[in-house]
Amino acid sequence: MSAQHYDLIVIGGGSGGLACAQRAAEYGAKSVVIESGRLGGTCVNVGCVPKKIMFNAASVADSLEDAAGFGFESPSAQINWAAFKQGRDAYVLRLNGIYERNLAGKKVEYVVGRASFLDAGTVEANGRRFSAPNILIATGGKPALPMLPGAELGISSDGVFDLDRRPSRIAVVGSGYIACEFAGVFASLGSEVQLFIRKSQVLGSFDPMLGKELMREMRKSGIAIQEQVIPRALLKEEGGITLLSSEEQRFQGFDCVLWAVGRCSDHHGLGLNRAGVHVDAQDFILTDAYQATNVPGIYAVGDVAGRAPLTPVAIAAGRRLSDRLFGGKQDRKLDYSLIPTVIFTHPPIGTVGLTEPQARAAHGDNVKIYSSSFVSMYYALTERKPRTEMKLICAGAEEKIVGCHILGLGADEMLQGFAVAIRMGATKRDFDDTLAIHPTSAEELVTMR
Ligand SMILES: Cc1cc2nc3c(=O)[nH]c(=O)nc-3n(C[C@H](O)[C@H](O)[C@H](O)COP(=O)(O)OP(=O)(O)OC[C@H]3O[C@@H](n4cnc5c(N)ncnc54)[C@H](O)[C@@H]3O)c2cc1C
Repeated sequence: MSAQHYDLIVIGGGSGGLACAQRAAEYGAKSVVIESGRLGGTCVNVGCVPKKIMFNAASVADSLEDAAGFGFESPSAQINWAAFKQGRDAYVLRLNGIYERNLAGKKVEYVVGRASFLDAGTVEANGRRFSAPNILIATGGKPALPMLPGAELGISSDGVFDLDRRPSRIAVVGSGYIACEFAGVFASLGSEVQLFIRKSQVLGSFDPMLGKELMREMRKSGIAIQEQVIPRALLKEEGGITLLSSEEQRFQGFDCVLWAVGRCSDHHGLGLNRAGVHVDAQDFILTDAYQATNVPGIYAVGDVAGRAPLTPVAIAAGRRLSDRLFGGKQDRKLDYSLIPTVIFTHPPIGTVGLTEPQARAAHGDNVKIYSSSFVSMYYALTERKPRTEMKLICAGAEEKIVGCHILGLGADEMLQGFAVAIRMGATKRDFDDTLAIHPTSAEELVTMR
């Protein structure tokens, strides 16, 4: 069978792959995207998008709880899970269609199938062969599941979106952002939530203030956090699923257990060995600063390459790669520093730049911390009183802002603009010289002393 020839073959129609293929097509490159699942990848189908819809539903539930404080007399409403799921899934389906039409509009060929390498320049999928001087691996990641007896009684984050009813008693295992986000969603929607963490704090890779204060707010919202629990097995018992710890503790009666214990790269079945592509010790595809693998003409972006697994990162890396390969911009590459990110917990977190320990390691005693802790005015009349916590990390005599960490209502929408200022090299003086917008929570960031 002879191969059809392209300028670019993209394996994986998720955030990074689609962005790269479409940018390449804009430069006139003949491109094909091969996707084995649903277009849009993790973000659209089992990640950011349906997760954010669940966060929004949970925020509505929080507002309903607050309504009485503002004088509303309507009784609090229960979520109709079936109606909610149908609406959420229909929205995702619409996005799948939009993504397919976008590819057609840009004249990128779309092939449904699982791709694998035949050699370093040829790929096979769906009974067809494709060859190109440039091949992008953008096959993303997948949830890691523990190798424990009964682990299959639990679900992964993918499984959350298949749930036909809201769990009434859920165990969330994990301490990263996905665990914390879903714990918050289910608690706000009325489930009894227990969060199981191996150590004593969540969000270990973020500024320590964020994990500490989030745990306080989670507990206030009714989430039971079981610290220093290492799961040993799941058992199916009469009252539901039991989680057995390595210390022989028994946590019983769950109708759902969610494993949120990390994610791994997804290059299963790609035949990387036939192309000669190397992976690192964590099984991520090894790439240089230009997303190039060790094999000339083969590149990798996004979660499969293991650096900052976020949608905008995969998109930006994919677009820059096409700018370089087909747009004549030889030095175009992604700067992986200062990546702003939001954690959609209740309350949400916005964070960019160095954590305090990282800043102290890099700048020694030349670090100054400004912080603020308050209750947002939104809660003036409500029974719930979640706190807002803010921290600015400054370095050097000019007090350049090298880190900004916010937990609190509105942090998710607050951070983007501050991230621009910080990328431009803003100092504390620049923040001080910026007039406050009153009354908002964000104004605290420009009035700290
Ligand atoms: C629950 C959850 C919440 C998240 N929330 C956020 C968030 O709020 N903000 C954010 O920025 N990021 C979030 N992320 C992360 C984000 O979804 C990923 O970083 C992003 O989707 C990575 O894009 P990618 O292109 O690398 O891979 P993906 O989007 O995963 O796309 C890879 C695609 O490759 C396909 N594929 C795999 N193997 C093959 C093959 N052999 N042949 C053909 N196709 C193949 C897959 O089917 C998939 O569609 C979240 C992730 C999860 C799991």
